Amino acid sequence: MLMTATKILIWYRNDLRLHDHQPMFQAVKQKAQIIPFYCFDNRQFKTTSFGFPKTGNFKSQFLLQSIDNLRKNLQQLGSNLVVRRGYPEKIIPEICKELAIDAVYFHQEVTSEEIKVETALEKALTQMGVQLNPFWGTTLYHPDDLPFTLAEIPELFTNFRKQVEKKSLINSTFPTPKKLPSLPNLDLGNIPTLAELGLETPEFDSRGVLEFIGGESEGIKRLNQYFWQKNRLKDYKETRNEMLGSDYSSKFSPWLALGCLSPRYIYEEVTKYELERVKNDSTYWLIFELLWRDYFRFICAKHGNKVFYSSGLQGLNLPWKEDWQRFQLWQTGNTGYPLVDANMRELAATGFMSNRGRQNVASFLTKNLGINWLMGAEWFESVLIDYDVCSNYGNWNYTAGVGNDARGFRYFNIPKQSKDYDPKGNYLRHWLPELKTIPGDKIHEPWKLSQAEQKQYRVNLGVDYPRPIVDFFKSIKANEAIYNNAQI
Ligand SMILES: Cc1cc2nc3c(=O)[nH]c(=O)nc-3n(C[C@H](O)[C@H](O)[C@H](O)COP(=O)(O)OP(=O)(O)OC[C@H]3O[C@@H](n4cnc5c(N)ncnc54)[C@H](O)[C@@H]3O)c2cc1C
Repeated sequence: MLMTATKILIWYRNDLRLHDHQPMFQAVKQKAQIIPFYCFDNRQFKTTSFGFPKTGNFKSQFLLQSIDNLRKNLQQLGSNLVVRRGYPEKIIPEICKELAIDAVYFHQEVTSEEIKVETALEKALTQMGVQLNPFWGTTLYHPDDLPFTLAEIPELFTNFRKQVEKKSLINSTFPTPKKLPSLPNLDLGNIPTLAELGLETPEFDSRGVLEFIGGESEGIKRLNQYFWQKNRLKDYKETRNEMLGSDYSSKFSPWLALGCLSPRYIYEEVTKYELERVKNDSTYWLIFELLWRDYFRFICAKHGNKVFYSSGLQGLNLPWKEDWQRFQLWQTGNTGYPLVDANMRELAATGFMSNRGRQNVASFLTKNLGINWLMGAEWFESVLIDYDVCSNYGNWNYTAGVGNDARGFRYFNIPKQSKDYDPKGNYLRHWLPELKTIPGDKIHEPWKLSQAEQKQYRVNLGVDYPRPIVDFFKSIKANEAIYNNAQI
C-alpha cells in the first residue's frame, strides 16, 4: 500500500529563521510534507491602551524584511512561505481543512495575547482532529533543563543565574535543513506593504547606530561582523555601556526579538570564539546578558499578567500620574536634561536606544516625573525595533521599582550618568545639535550656564533648548516620599 506523507504546517511567529528551529527539524525528520506559514495578525497593527500604534513603523519594517528574507531562504531550499493577514486561529484551521493537514508545529509564547491565540487555535484544531504541537525555542536554556520548575523560578536574577550556571546545560542547536519538500498547489499570498498595514515608511536616519535590516541572513551577517570580522566581542564588557556607534554592543536584540537569531546559535559562536580567539570576561558577559533575557521570559511565564499591571510583579500600588504634557516632553526629547533628550530623540528617529539610555530615560519618567511606567513601556513597545514583550515589561518593572527585586527607591543620577558614560559629551552633541557649541563638561548641565556663557555659545535657554522641566533632586525627593508611603 502506498503511504502518503504526514502533512505538517509550521506556524512561524517570533522564530523567523531556519537555523536551530526544532519544529522544522522534527517535521523534516518525519519526512513530512511541510507547509511553512506566517500570519500578519491584525491585532498587532491596532493601538496600545494609551493610543500608540502597537507595532510602529520601524518595527513593522523590520518585520516585513524578516518575513521577506524567510520566504527567500525557504525558496532556496525548494519550499516557500505561505502568507496571510487576519487571525491565525481562524486562518490556520481553514488551511488545515483545505490541505488536509495532520499537525501544526509551532514555538510557544508565554504572555497573555499570544497564549490567547494558541488556546483558541487549539480549540479549533482539536474539533477537527488536527494535532497542535508546541515547542520551546526562544531561550538559551530549555525549561526542562532548569534546576527548578517554571513555578519555582527564583525571584531574584542572581539566584536564578547562579543555580542555572551551576546545574544546567545549554542544548546544541538543531541543524538547518539542506533541502525541503515543495509546497502543494495553493495561493502563497503577498507580503503586505507598510502602507497596506496603515503605516508610513520610516525615514532612514544616518545618525543611528546601525542600518538594521530584518531577517536571518542579516542577523547572521551582523554576528559575523561583530565577532569575527571586527573582533569586538573581546572588549564587550568594557564597551557595552556606551551609547554611540555600531560596535559598543552586539546590537543582536532586534534579530533576537523576532527569532531571526537563536540565542543557542550565539552561544555556540561565543564558544567557538573562545576556542579560536580569546576567552575572557567579555565573552562570558555576553552570555550573562542573554541570561537576563532568559530570566525575564521565565519570570513572565511564572507570573502571568502581573508584569503588565501598574503595580507590577511586586504588587506595589503607587499613585502614578498620567501627565500627558510632561509625557510628551519626555517622548519627544524636550525635558531639559540632555542625556534623556538625546536618547529619546535617538529612539524616535531610529527605533533603537542603548541599554544605558533605556535605564536613564525610564528612571527619569518614573522617579523624576512620577508618570505611569506603563505609558513609557507602551511607547517603547510601539517604537523599539527590538521590542520583546518579556524583556520590555520585565525591565520596566525593574526600573519603575515595582519589579521583584524589592530594594527600595533607586534612581539614576542623570547628570552624573551623563558625565560618567559620555565624558566628552560626544553622544549629546550627536543628537542635540542646538547644544553643539557648548564646550566640554558644561554640555551635561546647560541650566548652569550663565547669561554671558549662553551668549558666548549662542544657546538661549528656554528658547533654543528647554530649561529642566523639574528640579532633579526635589522631584526625586517627592517621588521617593510617595514610594515609601505605598502599600503592597
Ligand atoms: C526600560 C528597558 C526596556 C527594554 N526593552 C527591551 C526590549 O523590548 N527588547 C530587548 O531585547 N531588550 C530590552 N531591554 C534590554 C536592553 O536594553 C537591550 O536588550 C539592549 O540594549 C539591546 O542592545 P544589544 O543587542 O546591543 O545588547 P548587548 O549589550 O549586546 O546584549 C546582548 C543581548 O543580551 C540581551 N540583553 C542585554 N541586556 C538585557 C536586559 N537588560 N534585559 C534583557 N535582555 C538583555 C539582549 O537580547 C541583547 O541583544 C530593555 C531595557 C530597559 C532598561
